Amino acid sequence: MPKGKRKLVKCIVCGEIFDSEIDICPVCGVGREYFIPYDGEEILYRKDTQETFIILGNGAAGISAAEAIRERNDTCRIIIISKEVELSYNRPLLTKKLSTFHSSEEILIHQPDWYEEYQITNCLNREIKRIDTVNNTVILSNDEEIKYDKCIYALGAESFVPAIKGCGKKGVKVIRNLQDVKDIRALSKNAKQAVVIGGGVLGLETAWELSKLCKVTILEAADQLMVRQLDETASGLLGNLIAKVGIDYRVGAAITEITGAEKVTGVALNNGEVFAADLVIFSCGITPNTGLAKEAGLQIGKAVEVNDKMETNIEGIYACGDCAECKGVNYGVWAQAIEMGKTAGANAAGEETYYDIYPPALTFHGMKTALFAGGDNGKLPDKDYQALEYRNDLDGNYEKFYFLENKLVGAILIGDTRKMNKVSEGLNVGCSYNYVKNNIIHD
Ligand SMILES: Cc1cc2nc3c(=O)[nH]c(=O)nc-3n(C[C@H](O)[C@H](O)[C@H](O)COP(=O)(O)OP(=O)(O)OC[C@H]3O[C@@H](n4cnc5c(N)ncnc54)[C@H](O)[C@@H]3O)c2cc1C
Repeated sequence: MPKGKRKLVKCIVCGEIFDSEIDICPVCGVGREYFIPYDGEEILYRKDTQETFIILGNGAAGISAAEAIRERNDTCRIIIISKEVELSYNRPLLTKKLSTFHSSEEILIHQPDWYEEYQITNCLNREIKRIDTVNNTVILSNDEEIKYDKCIYALGAESFVPAIKGCGKKGVKVIRNLQDVKDIRALSKNAKQAVVIGGGVLGLETAWELSKLCKVTILEAADQLMVRQLDETASGLLGNLIAKVGIDYRVGAAITEITGAEKVTGVALNNGEVFAADLVIFSCGITPNTGLAKEAGLQIGKAVEVNDKMETNIEGIYACGDCAECKGVNYGVWAQAIEMGKTAGANAAGEETYYDIYPPALTFHGMKTALFAGGDNGKLPDKDYQALEYRNDLDGNYEKFYFLENKLVGAILIGDTRKMNKVSEGLNVGCSYNYVKNNIIHD
């Protein structure tokens, strides 16, 4: 929670705001070239009460809701409940630090004394079993009951694992929490070959980090890598870079079975190929945690439905982060979880604030390259896109810009991504084809 007159910066990759003295973004790990000065928002609203705010989940959304409440209310009780044993941590670093991770302290959002200073109580290692919306009570797995005046539902998501035969075998993992990283590090000590299932950005980060520990193959069901963010050319170029660093990959991979008796020995495809593996990581997207919300009578679509104040259909209950969708949108990214959390907290505290949905951009640093992809890169089949492309096979740089009705709507940078800031601004304002041609591309 930024306090006093510190100089702040904002990371344009993940949206994190932190002290300008810090050289590496504590959330996504990029350097200073991706920081912009940040003035901070002055919070004028105040309403000190004796209410109890219960926050379910201590991820990005939960902790930013807690911060937003305390910034507006000095006297209320704030209780965060989570089944995790650690204080809130920077989840995006789990893949980025997979090969170097030593201890949870390295990735905590706040140190323990911060919670004391702001009088925020953590109930960790507690599973929430039920929300009783009649008696305004949360029931935990040890049957403990905690009463609330306002409740923030921020239970995040789980990794999605497709129903493939053998996916419960020993040595088959996902990366969603710190314990997963500890398990994978232990398994990787004896692993010679790993298969990562899923060629999205998290799959690629995982593969790159694991390749420092053992041999790695990526299997992607779609016919290209990072299919949601890249066009075919960019995906092909990325594939070449991946092969160059010694990581094998297949696209269009139809997996039939995870082989092995009790323990995994490989991954079989429908064309008869079998990739030997003593470690398999699924990286196939997320499933929002909506079960408790549904039982409590909250409206569910793909996730818990909220309006742009993060209000659910039940008064006094707000939802935010990976478990929530606003106007049908759930991107499942860090910056969105933070913004939704802030909005939920501010509104629960009594202020009236609104969440703006904006298309996320992502970066990838690994495979001895860097990549930025933002907006719509020609993905809607019925749209008539204009495109601008620059490609230099000698230095490995690639730039592609997509336009609809003369407005920039999507961009991809591979190699040199330093102009990402300019490109993000261009995407925000929807700058014209000629502007990009004369001022941005190959500049
Ligand atoms: C490995 C990895 C890398 C990522 N990298 C990036 C990235 O580079 N950039 C980016 O923008 N996004 C990234 N993301 C996505 C980003 O981390 C999430 O969007 C964000 O963390 C979501 O925050 P949240 O608070 O909504 O949910 P979560 O962080 O999932 O928090 C929910 C919490 O609720 C707890 N919980 C759930 N059910 C219960 C229960 N019944 N009882 C008690 N507690 C419960 C969970 O254990 C968890 O601690 C990454 C995600 C992962 C997993």
